[in-house]
Amino acid sequence: MRNSKNVQNYIFGRGSFQNLSEILEPRRKNDEAVVFIVDHFFKTNLQLPVHPNDFVLHVDTRDEPTTEQVDEILGKAKESVPSPCAIVGIGGGSVLDIAKAVSNLFRNPGKAEDYQGWDLIKSPGVYKIAVPTISGTGAEASRTCVMVNHKKNLKLGMNSEHTIYDQLILDPELTITVPRDQYFYTGMDSYIHCVESVAGSYRNAIGDAFSEQSLKLCRDVFLSDDMQAFENREKLMIASYLGGCAIANSFVGVVHPFSAGLSMVFGTHHCLANCIVMNSMEDYYPSETIEFHKMLSRQKIELPKIVSRPLTASEKKDLYNATVIHEKPLTNALGPDYKKHLTEERVSQLFEKMLGV
Ligand code: NAD
Ligand code: ZN
Repeated sequence: MRNSKNVQNYIFGRGSFQNLSEILEPRRKNDEAVVFIVDHFFKTNLQLPVHPNDFVLHVDTRDEPTTEQVDEILGKAKESVPSPCAIVGIGGGSVLDIAKAVSNLFRNPGKAEDYQGWDLIKSPGVYKIAVPTISGTGAEASRTCVMVNHKKNLKLGMNSEHTIYDQLILDPELTITVPRDQYFYTGMDSYIHCVESVAGSYRNAIGDAFSEQSLKLCRDVFLSDDMQAFENREKLMIASYLGGCAIANSFVGVVHPFSAGLSMVFGTHHCLANCIVMNSMEDYYPSETIEFHKMLSRQKIELPKIVSRPLTASEKKDLYNATVIHEKPLTNALGPDYKKHLTEERVSQLFEKMLGV
């Protein structure tokens, strides 16, 4: 039986970002410094409660986090603040994941790649606070932080209890500037996590409870006329948090492994890749695929085409390998003999269908 952990403290509501200073103050004993890791979008338009000896780094999130990038950020932060009292991550899933990894590595020797896997972190990291600025991935609630490792050709997180944030500040005001398409793709990550979780064989009462409420909120948001209205941004922020809790108590299913295939072979970002896969999941999640089509059309979102020519034999092979490697979610969805069903031919057909090639 799993011994689950959740985020210890959270503060939710319009304007709650203003509480960051107050939350940090008791930690700044003896003038200890804070490390702020912030999405580059907020370089000029967010006032941070910074003290003179703090370290602030703005991160370019055009590409998803890599192990090398995390090592580099850790090096810079350590040079400036050898022993911070807190790490604050302000941004979407990319920045929240980087801040988690940096916190762990401050208190555990070695490099980011040494800890990609399950329960490899030995000591708790530095106290960490997440301030999400885009909703959907659930990174603010989950026990992992996903990083691409180019050397090993894999995308894997530091899956550990120590990766869970100590404090969240959930301020829906911060998501007002998210571009429409990005808002949809990232929000859908929450919907897809929960669709996969409730359909899997590892489902359980607690995971289901989180998923069902998160799904209800996602339906409210994406079947409404204005998904970015303030009350919908509030709802999606909660759906994201609950979706992250759901996934910490269960597993994903067929969508995420195929999405990982697209990310590894074509570099497609996680949330867009999920949407491209979900668009063609009639055989696995029939009613949810219809609902997804309805959400796309209600919000007038058109998924971009990421390939416009037939797949090569080597791409097909790489896509197959990058998909079927995800044993836990595929077993959750299709049973232990999933490879009998997901043959190379079947996997290629599905990718051709979702890519429209
Ligand atoms: P992101 O952090 O990659 O950001 C996407 C884009 O949105 C960036 O260009 C960023 O600058 C911009 N942005 C963010 N907030 C904004 C705002 N308020 N206004 C305007 N622009 C804003 O987005 P994401 O989709 O939240 O995160 C994707 C990452 O999350 C991937 O790396 C994925 O692997 C990871 N992920 C992690 C978990 C987990 O449990 N740890 C789960 C799912 C996905
Ligand atoms: Zn996801």
